[in-house]
Amino acid sequence: MERKKRLLTGDRPTGPLHLGHYVGSLANRVKLQYEYDSFILIADVQALTTNFDQPERLAQDVRQVASDYLAVGIDPEVATIVVQSMVPEIAELTVFYSMLVTVNTLRHNPTIKTEAAQRGYTDLTYGFLGYPVSQAADITVVKAELVPVGEDQLPHIELCRKIVRRFNELYPGPRGPVFPEPQALLGEVPVLVGIDGKHKMSKSLGNAIFLIDDPETVAQKVMKMYTDPTRIRATDPGHVEGNPVFIYHDLFNKNKDEVEELKERYRAGRVGDVEVKKRLIRALNEFLEPIRERRAYYMAKPGLIDEILMAGTRRAREIARETLAEVREAMKINYFPVPVA
Ligand code: ATP
Ligand code: MG
Repeated sequence: MERKKRLLTGDRPTGPLHLGHYVGSLANRVKLQYEYDSFILIADVQALTTNFDQPERLAQDVRQVASDYLAVGIDPEVATIVVQSMVPEIAELTVFYSMLVTVNTLRHNPTIKTEAAQRGYTDLTYGFLGYPVSQAADITVVKAELVPVGEDQLPHIELCRKIVRRFNELYPGPRGPVFPEPQALLGEVPVLVGIDGKHKMSKSLGNAIFLIDDPETVAQKVMKMYTDPTRIRATDPGHVEGNPVFIYHDLFNKNKDEVEELKERYRAGRVGDVEVKKRLIRALNEFLEPIRERRAYYMAKPGLIDEILMAGTRRAREIARETLAEVREAMKINYFPVPVA
């Protein structure tokens, strides 16, 4: 049987995941886990590139993201969930890679520039500027061949490929190149608008519906949702296109006939926002119900989530150790026949 290709993906643990994450990446990962040998990295060290002043948040945020993964259907028997900081080989490889990338290359990275501007950073830390280098280490430490990404992450994959080429050329291993060149798996990544109808759904903008929200919270958020600003009375013809309530109906309501019927009545001015929202609340809660059930299953057994994280991390670490042994061999910095410590 042909070996499954290896894939790496992940998130910075900075809080609970929301519907935007679901449509933007989680749903795809759940599918991909059966096709590829998937490593899903909880990038806690990378979270520190912006949250270095609150390291105490990580313990909770790491488990939050893990429970969101499990809740949406990432199967720990199928995919490998890894905690980044517990694989020190990633940090080691990052240091080796840092010699192969110039500061100017990083400063011209368009994604870094955009993110720095969004965060109001003028003087970048070495860690923030260098996070794409550490991402290259994340990907290659397990020799991942595929990385599912959106447009914005393409410059980072390109950099990773450059680092790999440079490494393989400078340090040809005795048995051939140490690393495969990873490829971006560029999917259609829809960006979900927030409940404000203005900006993309984002934790920090207060416009998110979280996967962990209970039915009552979902109801309150939907009732506050922005709809069609041109429509004053329920009898006015309404706009369906670009209307967040209908965007959500299209994505999350399984009853397509209901959605079509609502759209028709909305366009004709024969249904009010309240009814459209009430039906959306039901649809969203129906969508979230299996997610809640799976979460409850994993949360019911104390310590289960930690065990899953430890098992995944252990598997990644075994691979990472082998990779670093090859790296050191190729770089000829394996001076001693046995580990010194
Ligand atoms: P923050 O407010 O801290 O920036 P966030 O909620 O915007 O948090 P990020 O951590 O910035 O989430 O997002 C990580 C990844 O999740 C993005 O690169 C993207 O792939 C996906 N994602 C986040 N928000 C959305 C969204 N609204 N629609 C689609 N994908 C999203
Ligand atoms: Mg964001």
